[in-house]
Amino acid sequence: MSEATLADCLRERGRRAVLESVRVELELARSAFQQGQSQALDPPSIAVRARARLEAARPSLRPVINATGVLLHTGLGRSPLAAEAVARAAEIARGYSSLEYNLDENTRGKRTQGVARLIRLLTGAEAATAVNNNAAATVLALRALAAGREVVVSRGQLVEIGGGFRLPEIFEVAGVTLREVGTTNKTRIADYQRALNPATAAILRVHRANFAMVGFTEDVALADLVQLAHDHGLWAIDDIGSGVLGPGRPPWQGDEPTARQAILDQADLVLFSGDKLLGGPQCGVLAGTSRAIQLVESDPMMRAMRLDKMTLAALEATLELALDAELAARRIPLWAMLSTPVEELERRAQALAGKLNALPGLAARVVVEQSQIGGGSAPGRSIETRAVALGPLFPPAYPAPAAFSGALRRAEPPLVARVHQDQVLLDLRTVSPELDERILDVIQGVCHHQSSEGRAVDRDGGPNSGRPDREPSPVSSS
Ligand SMILES: *Cc1c(COP(=O)(O)O)cnc(C)c1O
Repeated sequence: MSEATLADCLRERGRRAVLESVRVELELARSAFQQGQSQALDPPSIAVRARARLEAARPSLRPVINATGVLLHTGLGRSPLAAEAVARAAEIARGYSSLEYNLDENTRGKRTQGVARLIRLLTGAEAATAVNNNAAATVLALRALAAGREVVVSRGQLVEIGGGFRLPEIFEVAGVTLREVGTTNKTRIADYQRALNPATAAILRVHRANFAMVGFTEDVALADLVQLAHDHGLWAIDDIGSGVLGPGRPPWQGDEPTARQAILDQADLVLFSGDKLLGGPQCGVLAGTSRAIQLVESDPMMRAMRLDKMTLAALEATLELALDAELAARRIPLWAMLSTPVEELERRAQALAGKLNALPGLAARVVVEQSQIGGGSAPGRSIETRAVALGPLFPPAYPAPAAFSGALRRAEPPLVARVHQDQVLLDLRTVSPELDERILDVIQGVCHHQSSEGRAVDRDGGPNSGRPDREPSPVSSS
């Protein structure tokens, strides 16, 4: 029993860690005994406590398998990085680097120089820089170009994105007065015109990143906003959100606004996230005129929001890949997942379902489903996919879909699936192909566990644990 209790730990954590944990528990038990306290001293109890000790020492930030089909899943870290980006970040992290050192001239260098060059190439902008995320980019843009003044925004674009990016609050933080114009569904150029006054500094357009408006709607084209702004000596800022660089790039980008188009439309600043459709590390990119970027970079807040060397390295490597759309579609995981043909997903799903069906107490079949872009990008847009549907038959220890998916979530590696009605769905679009085998292992492990005396059931919150399993509402994907 005690061996069985520690078998998984031995496999996952290695002999030395298990021995150390058992040794600590033995010492504690011995000293408790000497002090006359009663503590269970039998090997199984020691083993259970040693396992708990090891489990408590597990890192909380761990890799998971995302089988939810939400490509930019905020709860699961948004965009996975290309191997090239990971390697570059690791290489730079490992040693010293030319982060702020101009090697040719033996002078102080600028940390964003490399990424700025690539962003200029990719967007056609005169100048560029990058900070911690798009929220930071927005605060900086507002502060640098409009502190103490007013910026005009359409009421239909006052968005809240993800946890806590609410435009009115961002304005407050930046010390800029928000001047709302138009109505929720319709804003016309005359609405903007009427709002302009001597305190106005800029017009801001914000992409409705995580919701779509249908029905009677009206918006002003960016080019017209820019024209109006420039006619009045104001700045024009475009927050496109998702980080699509230019047209003719990924085929799935649909009608997402692109940075290149915003620059062609003469916007002074265009802002986007690095870890949305670009598929890079978390960051916020600002591209635009030299004058605007210079003001942003000389804002004291820039120092508080600057990127660290690992992110810069990963961003630079990602942008290098993005220079070649075909290469990027193979090498940037997000682009690859978005462009995986349905036939390939079908083939993988059939293979996996076949193997899962062979497990006792499990029914698996392939179903046609829709993957979501998520991450506050491409509102309402989905892509056809194939998923392996488990159920309605489940192993007796986890008879309900929520209990079964809970057990998968608590497995190692955690497998995060989607529960739909009486089924657990594994969407393969967000699973990289080499993880198909791991999925099989995880599910096998869970099905096997439940047959071993119900101890796993207690631990995994199964029906006998007296702790009802809660399926979290689909973790924020916006
Ligand atoms: C996602 C998004 C943001 C916030 O970007 P982060 O990089 O998550 O800070 C801001 N504006 C728009 C339009 C977005 O889509």
